[in-house]
Amino acid sequence: MRDGERIILFDVGSGPNFMPSSGKLVDAMAEIELDPSTVTHVVFTHAHPDHLWGLLDDFDELIFSEAKYMISKPEWDFWIDPSTFDKMPEDRQGFAVGARKYLSFLEEKITRFNYGEEILPGILALDTHGHTPGHSSFEIRSGSDSLLILGDAITNHAISFEKPGWRISSDQDAEQGIKTRKMLLDRLASEKMQMVGYHLPYPGIGRAEAKDGAFRFVAA
Ligand SMILES: [Zn+2]
Repeated sequence: MRDGERIILFDVGSGPNFMPSSGKLVDAMAEIELDPSTVTHVVFTHAHPDHLWGLLDDFDELIFSEAKYMISKPEWDFWIDPSTFDKMPEDRQGFAVGARKYLSFLEEKITRFNYGEEILPGILALDTHGHTPGHSSFEIRSGSDSLLILGDAITNHAISFEKPGWRISSDQDAEQGIKTRKMLLDRLASEKMQMVGYHLPYPGIGRAEAKDGAFRFVAA
């Protein structure tokens, strides 16, 4: 997001080591002639690998070297706590190791915000926990335009919309994930807001429409 002097990046992707198809963010930025060192703010929705592990280059230096970083206080507190490792199911313990490792690089330069705060002008942090304990979405307003950055509160363009009450295995707290998803879909549909979802079909922008007691994804 460009806003005057600010260049704001929401999440940093996974970097090249998470899966073969990943690690394209820096190249994609080069295509629009955006130098990573000109990013002024990096705002995290949550600390899962595909949103955080793209933080460092091959030499373990911060790619967005000049940026200020921001994450919700509950998300920081959960992942930085060494005892989180033991609280995670075995197949997710790698997430805990990775989150703690990468967040440690930011200890001195990250702001921990509370839900409901306007973290930057026109950007409101929303409580959308469930997918992770401190998951945030962001409501962006400019005049009469609005846009919601979902993070992973809504992930699948069919299931999340048409069966919002289904439990999703990637949600850490599946019941809370359902409550959060329904709350967001109600708002998105009634306020006709645009949304950006990283796991929605390319380019990940669209709206939600009420349909038969549930919802439907309408791509932009
Ligand atoms: Zn996630």
